[in-house]
This record gives sequence, structure tokens and C-alpha cells, in this order.
Amino acid sequence: MLPRLHFAHLPTPIEALPRLSAELQGPQIWVKRDDQTGLAFGGNKTRKLEFLIADAQASGAETLITAGAVQSNHCRQTAAAANRFGFACILVLAGEKPSNPSGNNFLDQILGAEIVWAGGSGREQILEQTFESALDNGKKPYLIPYGGSNEKGAAAYAFAMQELLDQKADLDWIVFPSSSGGTQAGLVVGGQMFGYRGRILGISVDNPALDLQESVAMLAGETARALGGSSKFSPGEILVNDNYLGAGYGVMGEPEAEALNLFAQQEGLLLDPVYTGRAAAGLIDLIRSGFFTADQNVLFWHTGGTPALFAHPYLEKILAG
Ligand SMILES: *Cc1c(COP(=O)(O)O)cnc(C)c1O
Repeated sequence: MLPRLHFAHLPTPIEALPRLSAELQGPQIWVKRDDQTGLAFGGNKTRKLEFLIADAQASGAETLITAGAVQSNHCRQTAAAANRFGFACILVLAGEKPSNPSGNNFLDQILGAEIVWAGGSGREQILEQTFESALDNGKKPYLIPYGGSNEKGAAAYAFAMQELLDQKADLDWIVFPSSSGGTQAGLVVGGQMFGYRGRILGISVDNPALDLQESVAMLAGETARALGGSSKFSPGEILVNDNYLGAGYGVMGEPEAEALNLFAQQEGLLLDPVYTGRAAAGLIDLIRSGFFTADQNVLFWHTGGTPALFAHPYLEKILAG
């Protein structure tokens, strides 16, 4: 068994969204509230960190190092987990230090993480250098991969699938944002382990479908092995829709703004501009184009990210939408 800590608020609730279903004249829409996993505003990384922090503890590490975008939810949750369990934390963030920190980056600062700004390029190299120098300085670093997406982080979502099936077993579709692929790989493995019969559809946030299908299939195989199984997965079994990439990662457009406003105004449910806003825009478009039938149960897995609502320039764009 993989070592695991228990600090996420689980099980997260599952709720029906009847007003949204009626407004869209679509299938029965449900939401799984992984924006409520606890730990400094929560999100999907909190589940992954239960496994990653346990491994960091087992390895005798003292400093957690990870990397991400300026508005990385993963980095913010890692900084919070580091504090909770007595680790130091170094974050390597893309770009330059903003003159006016907001959203997740503002929270990183409250949480007291040391931030290394990687500038325009070469984040991988700066991450390596940061790790080497922490090692040389006796800080006992532990590297958490981008998005927490290795077989240990992804294992959390295999168990999340078990949790979901205990709440509601008759879901036809599970739809969610997919980026570094750990969430999707875990759900796919959990779906097989615990007998889910519906389909698992990742809405790609930043990668071409073929690339994401390949990396998710590979990670799913590694995750299955880490959990004691031997299943292999082929890219063709991994369902990814990359029709909603818009102008690229983190660039909010009209569809995301519409989705955010629609979920908020029909159901009082807040999405985020980068991940769940994009996936919800995809879900809305699929419903409007008749992809689902009215009698189907479709679960939208809310993966968190809401602190980015308060980040410039999303704030201004959402209000304009
Ligand atoms: C990281 C993140 C995702 C993507 O999850 P992956 O496991 O990296 O595919 C989705 N939504 C939010 C809010 C995230 O922070």
C-alpha cells in the first residue's frame, strides 16, 4: 500500500444542479465538490498531497519544492500542506514577480513560501538548479512534480472514484478539466478497480488531445502498478476533448466568462477562470450540441481553483463577461 495522510475534508459533497439542467435543457447535471477539500481554499491537489506529503515524510525530507504558473493552485496547496506538516517550501513560478500580487500568488505569500521567479523561459532548468542548491545547503529537498502528477498523486483520484461510486453509482459521464493528467489517470484506474461503468471525459485545458491521452495512459499504468495491479492502458481508451483550448493556458475568453457567470447565477456555484471555467464551457457546448441525452446523469467534477477569481486580470474580465 502507498503511505497516505488524512487531512482532506472527505468525502466531498455531491450535489444536483437542477436549475442549470433546466436552463440548458440538458441531462441531469451533478457536481462533485472537490473545491471543498480543505487546506487553504482546497482543490484537487489536496487529495494528491495526502499521498505526496506521506512520501516526503517517509523519505526524511525537510523542504518541499515544486513548480507552476503564477496562479498555480497546486503551488498554493503545496505551500499550505508544507506549513501544516512542518516542511519548508520553495516554489518555482513562471514569469516575473508581479508588482501587484493577487489570487493564488497573494496566498503563496501569506503562506510564507519562498518563491523563485523563473522568468520567461527555462523553468525546468531553474527548478533543477533550485533543487541542487537546496540539496547542497542541507535543506533535504523533496521534489513534487508539476501538478502533483506522478503515480502517488494520481492514486488519490483512484480512491476519489471509489468515494464517488459510494455516493452515486449510476453516472453516465464524468466531465472535468484535465491538464497534467494526474486527476484523469487516477479516475481511470479507480474506474477500473471499483467497477465504474460510465465514461470519463477530460476537457483539455492546455494540451492537444493526442499528447494528453498518451501521458494519461502511461501515468494510469504506473498508478495501477503502484496500487498493486498490472493493468495497462492505451491512449485510445482515454477520452479527451481538446476543442476548448481557446487562446491557450490561463487565457480567459468569452466561453469561460459565460460558464462562470451561468454557474454562479443559476446555482450559486463558483468556478475558476483557468480550469473549471474552461471545462464547464466545454460541458455547456457539448450539452447545446446534443452530445448527451436528457435522461443521462452527467457529473461535473469541480477541481477547485477559485482563488484565481480574485487575480488580476481575471477579475476585470469576469465582470466584463
Ligand atoms: C491542477 C488543476 C487541474 C488539473 O488537474 P491535473 O491532475 O493536473 O490534470 C484542474 N483544476 C484545477 C483547479 C487545478 O488546480
